[in-house]
Amino acid sequence: MKARIVVLGGGFGGVYTALALEKLLRGRDDFEIALVNRENYFVFQPMLPEVISGTIGITDVVSPIRRLLPRTTLHLRDVEAVDLERRRVVLSPGFRPHAHEIEYDHLVLALGNVTDFRGLSGLPEHAMPFKNLGDALALRNHVIRCLAEAAVEEHDAELRRELLTFVVAGGGFSGVEVAAELNDFVRAVLSNYRGLRREELRVVLLHSQERILPEMAEPLALFAQRMLTRRGVELRLKTRLAAATGTAAVLAGGERIMTRTLVSTVPSSPHPLIERLALPKAKGRVITTGELEVDGHPGVWAVGDCAQVMTPDGATAPPTAQHAIREGAVVAHNIVASLRGGPRKAFAFKGLGKMGSLGHRSAVAEVFGVRLSGFLAWWLWRTVYLMKMPGWGRRLKVAVAWTLDLVLPPDLIQLRVGGTRGLSREHYEPGQEVFRQGELGDRLYLILSGEVDVVREEGGASRVLARLGPGQWFGEMAILQMTIRSASVRCATPLDVLSLPREEFGVLATHLPDLRQRFDALAAERQAAPAVSTVVAPEEVARPDAAVSARE
Ligand SMILES: Cc1cc2nc3c(=O)[nH]c(=O)nc-3n(C[C@H](O)[C@H](O)[C@H](O)COP(=O)(O)OP(=O)(O)OC[C@H]3O[C@@H](n4cnc5c(N)ncnc54)[C@H](O)[C@@H]3O)c2cc1C
Repeated sequence: MKARIVVLGGGFGGVYTALALEKLLRGRDDFEIALVNRENYFVFQPMLPEVISGTIGITDVVSPIRRLLPRTTLHLRDVEAVDLERRRVVLSPGFRPHAHEIEYDHLVLALGNVTDFRGLSGLPEHAMPFKNLGDALALRNHVIRCLAEAAVEEHDAELRRELLTFVVAGGGFSGVEVAAELNDFVRAVLSNYRGLRREELRVVLLHSQERILPEMAEPLALFAQRMLTRRGVELRLKTRLAAATGTAAVLAGGERIMTRTLVSTVPSSPHPLIERLALPKAKGRVITTGELEVDGHPGVWAVGDCAQVMTPDGATAPPTAQHAIREGAVVAHNIVASLRGGPRKAFAFKGLGKMGSLGHRSAVAEVFGVRLSGFLAWWLWRTVYLMKMPGWGRRLKVAVAWTLDLVLPPDLIQLRVGGTRGLSREHYEPGQEVFRQGELGDRLYLILSGEVDVVREEGGASRVLARLGPGQWFGEMAILQMTIRSASVRCATPLDVLSLPREEFGVLATHLPDLRQRFDALAAERQAAPAVSTVVAPEEVARPDAAVSARE
């Protein structure tokens, strides 16, 4: 009977565990290694921010797991549950809708952490995370689209400002690197957009503490701040992001930065699946012994960002790639020691240092106690990460891309891979307009929570036609009659809606005649309903009874 080692997660922790296992168990056929990951590639996250500017190609930051791990069986699935009692892992269904289970003798938890916007008003709907390749690609495409739209937006100055304002929340390594790359990119390509001016661009970095890069020594963090400011990044320190809408980053204290691009690299939260496991945990991370096994659970190991690992000096290992790689090697050794017999190792890595890129040939680094900043740190950053990339082919590709980047302008291609925006959830803040009278009717809305006022502007006066609440629809009139919006819809409270594009609604209405009839009846009822009151300010409006509905 073969011993089966199952590794959950194909990031730094998981892939480097499996790589070390393959090496240690070479020539033996009494074991099996299985690795479960959502994607069939390993992402080299330290270089992910460079995908925004296109300094390196999209596929250059990833390596196919099958090629990295030829002796490992890759399960391209989502891990749905772990049954610690029965020593089984439940995976999501594939082509056939049945659950897929794999048994294990040894289990390595390497699922990383997540950027979790739950509970933060409007962030799940409107903030862009930055964690994987899809996020980087989506951000790059979105930024290019904003520049293109702004370049031809001549009528609406407010919209143009929103399109040219880019907000990044989180001043740790990833937030700083994203802001730096984004800033470099939009400024480098600006000359390709006729009519856009340098002074119109705003890249804002929000950070809740007194200085960015809290993991770094203060002089280096201050260097990074000066460098970013000089390049045009607006730093907003001691500033917390409180909420988001489709057009604004709402700060704690109520200030709104009007923008169509909000990236948030915070908060980093424990993986939900790890949270559900009945294992000892600290702040949502699985506590391991010095040998990286979970206390009281022989054969269950944890590495990387989902593990709470102690360093030899008694501190907690930080969530970095360099630690995850070394933890993977220790776990592999200890699993093999359990299978074959022999002494186990304790995790004894203290860290080599910290490095953060500031874009544009500048970085900060603290290596073996030596502090570096500027070009030298940047050169070191690139050399170290290039040498750490798995596989010579990938290294060669990245080195060529970096060399070409020194002489060629950044690529500007926008890949439209995601299709159109279908049914989606949106969040709005009080006073914000969902749509404005006179605009084209492009979407239909169902209120999930909150209330809106339907307001018509006529002869210089505003008339509130209705107040609508949860379970009610709005926006159907312009869609059914193929006309422009005949009223504005403004939020009276924080609002969450489900919105459906006109095309999708058209398909539903064509194939579900009953639905079409209901909406026609609703439109007729709304057209016949009297206005609620004639007011100027929406807060003066009393809630009408349920029979009064929107006329839009
Ligand atoms: C933008 C960015 C830049 C960074 N820069 C640096 C740097 O310069 N230096 C440094 O040392 N560290 C850096 N880090 C941190 C470093 O990447 C992490 O510490 C490291 O990736 C942790 O490895 P891990 O294996 O624990 O998690 P991850 O690498 O995140 O891997 C987790 C894997 O599990 C998979 N997964 C998760 N849930 C499931 C599920 N339910 N089913 C199937 N698969 C699942 C994910 O798809 C992923 O492949 C950076 C991180 C980011 C986001």
